[in-house]
Amino acid sequence: MSRIKPVERSDDRILVSDMHEFERGERGRPDLGTLHESGRDIPVYRRCDVLVVGGGPSGTAAAVAAARLGAEVIVLERYNHLGGLSTGGLVIWIDRMTDWEGRPVIRGFAEELLGRLPPEAIAGPGTEEWGSKDPARAAHWAQRTAAFHGIVTWSPTIDPERLKLLSQEVVLGEGARLAFHAWAALPLLEEGVVRGAIFESKGGRQAVRAKVVVDATGDGDLFARGGAAFESDIESHDIHHSMNTAWLLGGADMARWIAFRTSQPEQFAQFMARGREELGAFERPFVSWRNDVALYMGPRQSGFSGLDVDDQTEVEVRSHRLMGAHLDFYRAHAPGFENAYLMLSAPQLGVRHSRRLVGAKKMLRAHWPTAQVFDDEIGVTPSVSPKFPNISIPYGCLVPEQLEGLLACGRHISCDPNSHGFMREIPQCWITGQAAGAAAAIAANRGIAPRAVDIAELQSALLGQGVYLRARDTQQVGNAGPIPMASAV
Ligand SMILES: Cc1cc2nc3c(=O)[nH]c(=O)nc-3n(C[C@H](O)[C@H](O)[C@H](O)COP(=O)(O)OP(=O)(O)OC[C@H]3O[C@@H](n4cnc5c(N)ncnc54)[C@H](O)[C@@H]3O)c2cc1C
Repeated sequence: MSRIKPVERSDDRILVSDMHEFERGERGRPDLGTLHESGRDIPVYRRCDVLVVGGGPSGTAAAVAAARLGAEVIVLERYNHLGGLSTGGLVIWIDRMTDWEGRPVIRGFAEELLGRLPPEAIAGPGTEEWGSKDPARAAHWAQRTAAFHGIVTWSPTIDPERLKLLSQEVVLGEGARLAFHAWAALPLLEEGVVRGAIFESKGGRQAVRAKVVVDATGDGDLFARGGAAFESDIESHDIHHSMNTAWLLGGADMARWIAFRTSQPEQFAQFMARGREELGAFERPFVSWRNDVALYMGPRQSGFSGLDVDDQTEVEVRSHRLMGAHLDFYRAHAPGFENAYLMLSAPQLGVRHSRRLVGAKKMLRAHWPTAQVFDDEIGVTPSVSPKFPNISIPYGCLVPEQLEGLLACGRHISCDPNSHGFMREIPQCWITGQAAGAAAAIAANRGIAPRAVDIAELQSALLGQGVYLRARDTQQVGNAGPIPMASAV
């Protein structure tokens, strides 16, 4: 049985979808003690300048950014594709790339990648509509993932297979090397400094030597095992910590479904009430890149850990069952779903949050209203609501407070739980990935530690790669030197 845990709309969050608390299945794991693993020689697979571990949005951006600065790059990815949750996780709704004025602030690699998708692989409002407050346009796009607070945004839906293929070709096109089916197990530590990683594959245990490692695993696998401090506290009223496996139903007619939702509000409310009653955990579909494909990114299950194999399994099993139950219910009762079928459950489990780095700096809720532009700004993110200005992303939130030789990017960067609510989203992961990749290449090229990278050089490299930055343009740069240790912003 599940209990609905409604999310209340507040200044700190934008999504108001329900979460569900389930009774955790019986674990019954006895304490069987530990085994000792004896030392052994590990073959070195290859060496490189920058090793990117994890090929999700952040890892893909990091690999391309580093390769474009002349670094030899290897990407280790445990599955068979790039894109992480944005492809294999079926998180095909790319959240807001524009701010509340309609200006595209998530630019650089993110903008380039979406721009290179074939037109039939991406759906959303045209540039002329971004920022529109026209009630009719906003009402239209609110049903299609692209309007919030009555403002049209650039937050398209994409074809996951196209994004996989494009990401792969862009990475290979820049000369980076891909190693799929390679699960990184440990950082390679020499005198406390990360100098590569040890991974497992069908070929056994092997190592990659690297000048700098970018941890883009989403769960901080490398920095945690390297001894860097991390946090895992959550904002329990937000969905940012809940887990589920997304799925697609084919054979739908989303135009009919939207017409039903918008033109028959009472019947829609009855439909939702009946769904909740019969299924318990019940979810509404989102549009996708095609009218005949419906996207389900819930029911969201709270109270589980993305680091516990039993929790992961339980969430997968329940999500698969819920997918079957939703198909039956929607076919029987939802206009537009009479001919629907199970198209795909996501190959990658939907983990929104597990570990967050304790970095040299930290993004905090307290900064949202301030409009502060950090000296070491490496990107700009739209805020969660029009009440707040755009938010500056500092380089220091990618740099571990103590561990050397490694940078973090993507959904495990240094931030508080509220800021994690949006910094974990795909556009922001592209931004922090691009910055980590560029910084890693600069550090490798110069033979210096990532924390010693000159901020002006990094910002100049990012501007050269099309990233939107304000610090240097607005003369708000203070002393753009290396970041100090442990100076939390
Ligand atoms: C259900 C759900 C709905 C969401 N909805 C949205 C949304 O609507 N819009 C939005 O923008 N964002 C959304 N998000 C958030 C977003 O999808 C993720 O936060 C984002 O994809 C994170 O990118 P990343 O690169 O940090 O990590 P990931 O996308 O998790 O990629 C990490 C990659 O690293 C690989 N990896 C992990 N560990 C290892 C290892 N040890 N060795 C080798 N490879 C490894 C993984 O296989 C994966 O490919 C949602 C997330 C979920 C789960």
